[in-house]
Amino acid sequence: MLRKAQEKLKKYYGYDSFRKGQESVIESIINGKDTFAVMPTGAGKSVCYQIPALLLPGVTLVISPLISLMKDQVDTLNSVGIPATYINSSLSINEVNERIDKTSKGEVKLLYVAPERLESEFFCNMLNRLTISLLAVDEAHCVSQWGHDFRPSYSAISSLIRKLHVRPIIAAFTATATQAVRLDVIKLLELREPDIYVTGFNRENLSFTVIRGENKRDFVLKYIEDNKDKVGIIYTATRKETDNLYELLNKKGYNVGKYHAGLADSQRKENQEKFLYDDINIIIATNAFGMGIDKSNVRYVIHYNLTKSMEAYYQEAGRGGRDGEPSECILLFSAADVLLQKFFIEQSTVSPERKISEYKKLQAMVDYAHTTRCLRQFILEYFGEENTRDKCDNCSTCNDESELVDITIEAQKIFSCILRMKERFGTTLIAEVLRGSKNKKVLDLGFEKLSTYGIIKQYTVKEIRDLINVLTAEDYLSLADGQFPVVRLKEKAVAVLKNQEKVYQKVEKRKAKAASGNGLFEILRSLRKEISEREKVPPYIVFADSALREMSEYFPVNKSELLSIKGVGESKLNKYGEEFIQVIKKYMNENNIEIKEKILYNEEVDITALNEAAVEQKGENEDKLPSYVITYNMYKEGMRIEDIISERQLKSLTVQDHILKCAYEGFEVNLDDFIPKNHEALIIEVIEKIGASKLKPIKDALPKEVDYLAIKATIFKHANNKIS
Ligand code: ADP
Repeated sequence: MLRKAQEKLKKYYGYDSFRKGQESVIESIINGKDTFAVMPTGAGKSVCYQIPALLLPGVTLVISPLISLMKDQVDTLNSVGIPATYINSSLSINEVNERIDKTSKGEVKLLYVAPERLESEFFCNMLNRLTISLLAVDEAHCVSQWGHDFRPSYSAISSLIRKLHVRPIIAAFTATATQAVRLDVIKLLELREPDIYVTGFNRENLSFTVIRGENKRDFVLKYIEDNKDKVGIIYTATRKETDNLYELLNKKGYNVGKYHAGLADSQRKENQEKFLYDDINIIIATNAFGMGIDKSNVRYVIHYNLTKSMEAYYQEAGRGGRDGEPSECILLFSAADVLLQKFFIEQSTVSPERKISEYKKLQAMVDYAHTTRCLRQFILEYFGEENTRDKCDNCSTCNDESELVDITIEAQKIFSCILRMKERFGTTLIAEVLRGSKNKKVLDLGFEKLSTYGIIKQYTVKEIRDLINVLTAEDYLSLADGQFPVVRLKEKAVAVLKNQEKVYQKVEKRKAKAASGNGLFEILRSLRKEISEREKVPPYIVFADSALREMSEYFPVNKSELLSIKGVGESKLNKYGEEFIQVIKKYMNENNIEIKEKILYNEEVDITALNEAAVEQKGENEDKLPSYVITYNMYKEGMRIEDIISERQLKSLTVQDHILKCAYEGFEVNLDDFIPKNHEALIIEVIEKIGASKLKPIKDALPKEVDYLAIKATIFKHANNKIS
């Protein structure tokens, strides 16, 4: 059965292997067990019920929380050749009947419905006309009051299950569930002795950054300028903030859209579609945006404000990099955001017990923003995951290269001014006094007479306000609750005033850009956009970024090579393959990349490039000869490859590529030197079977002793005999 599952994965989705956890979840479902899977966003939950749906008889009913996204999910399935449909309130009763009929005739394998539908007795009865083998509950945490997205209509799921004549297998999925929520989900969905799978929460391709006390607008402006061609989401805590930021970026000419619950449905829908179709590349939104969004090529998620919980943060940030490509998750922290979240909690009408739980969740978020530990480790521990590594090398703590600047004098001036103003005013007025402003309010209050008036003249009011924000974020100052937050001194500040402690500000040396592709990648992207417009599906449904990136690295120029690209299945190959092949060929022609040269672009291309650069530098000192020529000269002197490697202290891969590069450039190289006689026929046989666009699968299919150099040399030697 698992082999069949694997075949479906390859055939429909174009993936060679299951990801961590997917296999066990699928196995459990097809063995008829109720299953509860906790997997992080982007881990590939959908496949876990879609593949069983293909293997089980009848139909799989999928409960999915957002009507607006069902179409998208169904489109994705149809685009890979899986028959699916949805039923929601946008359809007439006739259309609903039609879809039910189609499903009962076995023409549909997955039927998506919103939980609200299940509240209708009539609808539930109608479902009894179908053979439902599997009921998949997406975003299952919505059933729990203790989750962060409680949906009362989810409680209709268990009553539906009771109403069905034959109880289907129940599979529930969620990305974020703490132990308490997990138990609640199992109880409320009435799962029967479920198999529970909690796959690791870690998302290696996401980098995490917390920025405290910095001017948020300035940060965002600089970031999006540096990452102009990237797709990103900026979350804000309020509609007003979304509107403001949208205005700002729109005025500056960026391609932005916005999304919040205050917009008309049609407007929201339009903006969302534009984002899905890459017509806008930045969306500014409140947390109303995104549940179930599976746009895979989001390269950054910036949180302009603190979220109410770690669960909410990880879910929203997790919308970046679903394609597995590097993506950045950045949290901009300011102390004022904590007040806002507390205000939301206070305003809500939930029970006192629940309020306490929400305060605790908020505190975890504040701790995250202040921790000096590895951010990834912090997150994983929060979700109860044992983590043995204490450094991830991919978060702002682990990669901290910032410099510490001593700002004790400025801090003392600010603290002393706040004291003299009797701790009764907000950030702006304090900054104005320090700067020596002559504005009416300052004069009316007589602040020009204070000894601290105008003692930080060299800074602008904005810069002073930013400094105050830094000092607040670092816990020297507090903001009192209220509509106009009043700034007060905390204990830590007193020590500074007494000259007992120094204050340092971190000045970031930030990475300027999110990950980007080469020239071909951009060309493939625009082809994808063209197809997306023609076929009226979002670009990422045509191909994920990761598929385009592989294409731009491996230059597949025929169907079997294209099929070996991750994310290219049969249906997409037939639909779009030819167009992509043509574009890739054209690019290769225009850039003088020959089939032969393709072999230099192998799995290890990045390492090679890095080595190449390092070697090139070394070469500078060695008679300015290109590095590969030095290698070649040694080879010509009769040195063995192993000796060249140790003499030059290079990676074996680099030396191998040097030799092949020489062969390619017409230097005299006897490739047979590198191909043991008894291996050549074997290698050719494998290449004829699986193509030559990737080296690793060839290597894997051969006996261990056949090395990469022999494979490359064979491909190279026979490149003109059409085996590549
Ligand atoms: P989730 O629902 O868990 O957030 P999705 O089901 O939307 O995640 O999957 C995220 C992305 O990962 C999708 O683009 C999907 O096609 C891709 N994906 C799923 N399974 C695999 C796999 N085995 N190999 C490679 N990519 C996969």
